[in-house]
Amino acid sequence: MTETTTSGGGRPSLPMQGVPQPSRDEVLNLPRVHISSHPVMAHKMTALRDKNTQPPEFYRLVKEIGALLAYEATATLALETVPIETPMGPMIGERLAGGIGVTPILRAGLGLAEGFREVIPDAQIWHLGLRRDEQTLEAMEYYNQLPHRVDLQVCYAVDPMLATGGSAIDAINVLKRRAIPRLCYVGIIAAPYGLLKLSQTHPDIEIYIAMLDESLNDVGYILPGLGDAGDRQFGTF
Ligand code: URA
Repeated sequence: MTETTTSGGGRPSLPMQGVPQPSRDEVLNLPRVHISSHPVMAHKMTALRDKNTQPPEFYRLVKEIGALLAYEATATLALETVPIETPMGPMIGERLAGGIGVTPILRAGLGLAEGFREVIPDAQIWHLGLRRDEQTLEAMEYYNQLPHRVDLQVCYAVDPMLATGGSAIDAINVLKRRAIPRLCYVGIIAAPYGLLKLSQTHPDIEIYIAMLDESLNDVGYILPGLGDAGDRQFGTF
């Protein structure tokens, strides 16, 4: 293992430098990890990654990808029966059993949450602000709009980039204190390192991603990735 360089205060200046990372192949078959194989997803991902894609188009694509991921991640939700009347007569219909929560990790998760709302308009949106310390990559909570009353069957923590896994792990920790029967993480791109960390720390959650990339660079950005998902959605370069 290569030595990590340190700045004046003895803290790592390049937090991922010299940190061993698993390969794609090592994490491809982790339990409870779902990687999209939909051709429309692959098509949209190419446009999303392209450095020439500008913020309005980028945000639109994040929403569309969020809707596709929502469709995949809700495929096993529980239903309950409900008697209704169609114009032709009575029938027994089905509806989702219990509420759906979506927790966008601010701020990059906002576009994904909008995509979820396209598919499930009555989903509750629980905003959670986690910022990573640029030096240590540790996640710090700075905003929490989680309600006190919980009647959900599932809550999805959504954040586009699963890089070191710090924010995702912390978000799931926060949600676990709310006694929600089922928790999932939904992201657009994962690095093998963050995917393994999240899956090992929270082996009981389902993880849905659009694509699995190669690695993290020395400062914890995903390669080939798409750059900064927050800046590219909101034009803050
Ligand atoms: N966050 C991003 O926005 N991009 C990365 O590559 C990693 C973390």
